[in-house]
Amino acid sequence: MKVLVAVKRVVDHNVKVRVLADGSDVDIGSAKRAMNPFDEIAVEEAVRLKEAGVASEVVVVSCGAAACQDTLRSALAMGADRAVLVETAAELQPLAVARLLHALCEREQPQLVICGKQAIDDDAGQTGQMLAALLDWPQATNASKLLPGDGHVEVTREIDGGSEVLALTLPAVLTTDLRLNEPRFVSLPNLMKAKKKPVDNVTPEALGVDVAPRLRTLRMAPPPARTPGVRVASVAQLMERLRAEAQVI
Ligand code: AMP
Repeated sequence: MKVLVAVKRVVDHNVKVRVLADGSDVDIGSAKRAMNPFDEIAVEEAVRLKEAGVASEVVVVSCGAAACQDTLRSALAMGADRAVLVETAAELQPLAVARLLHALCEREQPQLVICGKQAIDDDAGQTGQMLAALLDWPQATNASKLLPGDGHVEVTREIDGGSEVLALTLPAVLTTDLRLNEPRFVSLPNLMKAKKKPVDNVTPEALGVDVAPRLRTLRMAPPPARTPGVRVASVAQLMERLRAEAQVI
């Protein structure tokens, strides 16, 4: 089974981004970038399937600027076999990425596509679902456990108040939740070895995909600052305050 994994290059989760003074966007400037954490989980799961003899090949794909090569190299260092960079300077919204991945699926014919449940920069949580719809394949989002079977996969999904187990006929699309696995640490020797693994370059034009944005951001605003907490001297005082504040509400 061939597995295709979508990996996005995002601002590192440790970086605190600021909204620009005019509210038009966030200022990411030269902030450190990294692989979207949910995509690391997706790569890890695919590599585990390869190590278990279930996957025959793991192909990682990133769409965006040339610098996405770094993200692809990290995925190759984790154990993916080869990479495809869909290179474009255009702003890519989830529908455009889903259409690019759709075109690549037609080329690559994977049996399983794994995406993150959301990219931590746009928090859209749309790409995997849109891709499944475009392909007309079954999908399971927010996967926390994956059991491969013969011609199908059994997926445990995180849902409100519990979990749900689905059987999906392959080919299928999955999106990963945090609990699916703990991604491995990339060692320096593996990073060096990854430099020799193949990375193909394609463009949206070559794939025949129109990536024009469909949404326009009108305004961005930081969350309101939290008011500082108050220290009380005793439980009695705490009860008094709670009673008084409940009355105000
Ligand atoms: P989103 O719908 O933007 O929250 O992204 C969900 C998932 O889609 C991500 O975790 C990635 O697996 C995939 N994805 C989104 N954008 C890209 C991109 N530019 N390149 C590769 N994969 C992407």
